[in-house]
Amino acid sequence: MSAMATADIISDAPQHGALTPFVNEPFLDFTSAENKRAMENALADVQSMLGREYDLVIGGKRLRTEGKIVSINPGRPTQVIGVHQRAEADLAAKAMEAALAAFPAWSRTPAPERAALLFRAADLVRQRKFEFCAWLVFEVGKNWGEADADVGETIDFLEFYGREALRLDAATTPIQFPGERNQLRYIPLGVGAIIPPWNFPFAIMAGMTSAAIVCGNTVILKPSVDAPTIAARFVSLLEEAGLPDGVVNLCQGEGPGFGSAIVAHPQTRFIAFTGSKAVGLEIHENAARTQPEQKFIKRTILEMGGKDAIIVDGDADLDAAVEGVVASAFGFNGQKCSACSRAIVDAGIYDTFCDRLQARVARIETGDPEKNVYTGPVISEKAFKKVVDYIEIGKKEGRLLNGGVTIKTPEGGYYIQPTIFADVSPKARIAQEEIFGPVLAVIKSQSFDEALTIANDTEYGLTGSVYSSSRHKLDRAREEFHVGNLYFNRKSTGAMVGAHPFGGFNMSGTDSKAGGPDYLLLFTQAKSIGEKVG
Ligand code: NAD
Repeated sequence: MSAMATADIISDAPQHGALTPFVNEPFLDFTSAENKRAMENALADVQSMLGREYDLVIGGKRLRTEGKIVSINPGRPTQVIGVHQRAEADLAAKAMEAALAAFPAWSRTPAPERAALLFRAADLVRQRKFEFCAWLVFEVGKNWGEADADVGETIDFLEFYGREALRLDAATTPIQFPGERNQLRYIPLGVGAIIPPWNFPFAIMAGMTSAAIVCGNTVILKPSVDAPTIAARFVSLLEEAGLPDGVVNLCQGEGPGFGSAIVAHPQTRFIAFTGSKAVGLEIHENAARTQPEQKFIKRTILEMGGKDAIIVDGDADLDAAVEGVVASAFGFNGQKCSACSRAIVDAGIYDTFCDRLQARVARIETGDPEKNVYTGPVISEKAFKKVVDYIEIGKKEGRLLNGGVTIKTPEGGYYIQPTIFADVSPKARIAQEEIFGPVLAVIKSQSFDEALTIANDTEYGLTGSVYSSSRHKLDRAREEFHVGNLYFNRKSTGAMVGAHPFGGFNMSGTDSKAGGPDYLLLFTQAKSIGEKVG
């Protein structure tokens, strides 16, 4: 469908029956000379825009503060990507005022109009795909393919939630009681705080924001300090698509400062958060503390960390398993909540698997993401130190197969070689704690039973994968592998909107299932109306 076509259909014929069915945005093929050239041009264009200053956007007005957040390129820390205003806790009241002021009109805007905003935004992102990819390369160090997956998922969320909002708008009670007209309407909650992580700085940020507003809520968006520029550019794009003032209020700020203040605000009705377990739990507690004059119980949608495992059974296709483990563990340097950080391998094939894994990972190139190298830098100096500390722990807990060293570059980027430890105990720290970097623990299992026990034996439950050719074992895993997103004979990363609704169990979060048919319910409350007729 062409750029404006979706929006035209929506305004001409509000029934969503007229919309084309949702399909995932296709991935870009960078082996095509045309796409490669387009990406190189986009990188050059974006390079010429680096270092600009961006404002906060509150009630549609631009605002500057004394304090600044400086976003840098993790592969070249002296290169400034953008300078942003630092909202402190005292700005929470002003942002709330703007969001509350916009709520009455936006919440009553018909759902097809709200959905049309998302469709127009999707069209604009699609038109600027290469440009957004380039921003992701510079701001968070994604290679081209990873950047494209992030941009494609953003488009998918906008298209999917737009359609879901129309579906919800048309919903009603399953039964009409005799003598009554019964209605079930999904109405918005109020003002929400949207608090995304840095690692899918486009898709998760835009996904949580668009889900909230398409349901008629207004929001205060506080992006990660490690990826503020993508968020600022997305909010500008929403404005271009017709976002009314005050519906999305952009407040860049630190988590413990502005973030904590907006969570605590008595009029924050809900918090949509994606990030680490520690911060998720803190937000949960903070939101549960009732403030004076608060009139509702705050709702929290918390998506948190993982310690995801891939089970490689004795009868698995080993080549496929090695590829799947490598892609899941080292794609974007393991900086995905769905990344495989534990490979649980059957004793019968353990040595062969380790040899092949070692040989495969030795071929991974690490370097400048601008040049589309497989793994780039980790996100920050703080992340770099954390991963290096875990590598030192790993040296005591396992046998080093690959990596274990940092890479020095003239620009001082935060590069670490893909690292694998074999012979790791299931209870070792590197087998239990989320590292969020390019470190994989390989654990030997004596049976499929034991593999399942090990896989389930962490406090998390986000993603998991099993490589096996046995239908019986896959069926057992279907029942017993306790994770929110389970995959068979494929990698544990790369959830697709619509096909793999995403969200974890246990300390991985509240199982929100982003990109699924239940997600928008989290941003609404259902009002049941019964009218006597006749
Ligand atoms: P983080 O928890 O450090 O930060 C996430 C967001 O919370 C940021 O915007 C941050 O500024 C904010 N924040 C920090 N302290 C706060 C506070 N006290 N009050 C309010 N807000 C606060 O996470 P991160 O480093 O940005 O992201 C990586 C983490 O996110 C990993 O643990 C990863 O597994 C997880 N993650 C989970 C999912 C999922 O869907 N489950 C997806 C992506 C990332």
